[in-house]
Amino acid sequence: MGTSGPTRGPGKTAGGQGKNLSPVQGAQQAEQRLGKPCYHAGQKVPGIYACVTCQFRINNRGTLPACPDCGEIIWAYMGDGPRPVPEGETAPAPATEAPPARATEEQVALEPTVQEPVKVEEGIKLEP
Ligand SMILES: [Zn+2]
Repeated sequence: MGTSGPTRGPGKTAGGQGKNLSPVQGAQQAEQRLGKPCYHAGQKVPGIYACVTCQFRINNRGTLPACPDCGEIIWAYMGDGPRPVPEGETAPAPATEAPPARATEEQVALEPTVQEPVKVEEGIKLEP
């Protein structure tokens, strides 16, 4: 008697592996685990995606749904090429480097073209 059961304190949220992840965090963790770009339901990204839980594949054209097979909301991008950017999100902007303005002021001396006199010999009589 008097035994007190273990008290579960939900206070600490620094677990990291819990199920209280936001979809974005879940996608990030799945991406780290799988090494593929991962997205979550609700993001509008076209392409071929596989459910990270049951590998159910979809050819997504609009907004990612929840997995119709197991209900997972995290999808791994299975396509080739660069990481797709969900519509409404900004792609990592490439560093805009302004090309250095070249101030090359070279004086090009245009020499007048020297025309050599062409000697035209006339009066050549062709004697039969
Ligand atoms: Zn699934």
